[in-house]
Amino acid sequence: MPKLQRQQYYDLTRDMNWHFRYVDEAEVFPEAMSKSLGVPAEEWWKWDEPYKLTFREYTYNQVDKDTGIYSIKSVTNRANLYEKLDSGWRSAIKAHYGAIPVPEYLASIGEARMARFGRAAAWRNMATFGALDETRHGQAQAWFPYSLIDKDPQMDWALKTLHTNEWGAIAARHLFDDMFTANDAVSTAIQLTFTFETGFTNLQFLGMAADALHVGDMEFGALISSIQTDEARHAQQGEPTLRVLVANGKKAEAQKMVDIMFWRSWRIFSLLTGLSMDYYTPLEYRSMSFKEFMEEWIIKQFMDQFKDLGMNTPWYWESHFLPELDWYHHGLHLGVWFWRPTVWWNPDAGVSPAERDWLEEKYPGWNDTFGRWWDVITENVRKGEANKTLPETFPVVCNLCQIPIITPCGHAIGKLERPIPFMLEYNGRQYNFCSEICRWIFKEQPERYHGHLSIVDRLLAGQIQPPTVEGALAYMGLTPEIMGQDADNYQWAFAERKAAE
Ligand code: MN
Ligand code: MN
Repeated sequence: MPKLQRQQYYDLTRDMNWHFRYVDEAEVFPEAMSKSLGVPAEEWWKWDEPYKLTFREYTYNQVDKDTGIYSIKSVTNRANLYEKLDSGWRSAIKAHYGAIPVPEYLASIGEARMARFGRAAAWRNMATFGALDETRHGQAQAWFPYSLIDKDPQMDWALKTLHTNEWGAIAARHLFDDMFTANDAVSTAIQLTFTFETGFTNLQFLGMAADALHVGDMEFGALISSIQTDEARHAQQGEPTLRVLVANGKKAEAQKMVDIMFWRSWRIFSLLTGLSMDYYTPLEYRSMSFKEFMEEWIIKQFMDQFKDLGMNTPWYWESHFLPELDWYHHGLHLGVWFWRPTVWWNPDAGVSPAERDWLEEKYPGWNDTFGRWWDVITENVRKGEANKTLPETFPVVCNLCQIPIITPCGHAIGKLERPIPFMLEYNGRQYNFCSEICRWIFKEQPERYHGHLSIVDRLLAGQIQPPTVEGALAYMGLTPEIMGQDADNYQWAFAERKAAE
């Protein structure tokens, strides 16, 4: 048993910084790995995390958390819980499982980089716990779906997705490599922990855990809440890092890191969470629309944080970001449903008459814009011509976010009609972007992004053979038992509107 009380050793051990005599600061903390931006050592030593923890406390807590989730898992396995879940909800969790567990594991590399190259001992201490957290998240979120593979082969993609060239996997790798696998310590603290985790995932995990309990998925709910408690702790590395930068005149540099990663996070968040909340979650269990969730949790919370820290909202906030809340994820949903064989889950159309009423209430004008496309699709399905609702060509993909380019229904949404794709000529090559912001991010660091080939670039370069939809599906690793189908087997198209009272 330890002889010392916590208060007798804690401050000494958690934050022991020293000056180097035999080597330079720059040798210990190379700029490429640490990105100190010229802020001197003693200034970094003011780094102070709000959440203080010993290794012993950490270990006890984590053992409890793991014991909790794995015992719930063994109970739900026996109860055949999965078979009883709504098909749209199953799609939401499969989309999550394919996109998240392996990146969680990769996040442990980003945490480990901060644990070595962060400029304060307290920070390195906290990042060490972060690296252990992310390893746990990778393992648990690989294990839970693994035990469902015999019930649903798409669950195999929890481990597989990131090792394929499926288009969503390319988008996820491009984003997460930029954010943490191939990022320096300071940028990782600002972009992963402050922007992505504090801004998006922490709240998304809270929201998803609550939704899981509503729909009766205790297993996923327990898993996600367990992870969220770790995220809420290690996400707090961002704010002290930001404070050091702001106090040392590096606000502009920090602001740019946030502006870049807020946009990139928004893109992937719309794709995953936007579709899940507004189309896949069963109507009777929806507590908020995606837009309401964004306004209440992400936008308000971000505004508050920015104000507290003396930062500004991203430069594109009013002009580009807020207007997209009304249309961007609706467009993505239409595209993902149409190109459904290209994903590892079964997209839920979510447009039965009752669901369309809900969409119209939450997004006034939805019926006149997106609804018109769904009218045609519904008509084709009803005529038994569902083959007309399947793809024969490829969409144009953005060279930054790697997500197919979406345009709002111009004549109906009016002012939002814009010339897209946004183009850029660089080193004799033409690049296409979904938005002015993705183009701006590319232009800020072209050396970082220019060599990457989007899935459509690969097709044009002859890497996908034969250059057909079938060839592309094979290139993406999608086999017939995995390819997405309509989650509801088209029942929504035949649902009748309830007669008025
Ligand atoms: Mn995590
Ligand atoms: Mn994390």
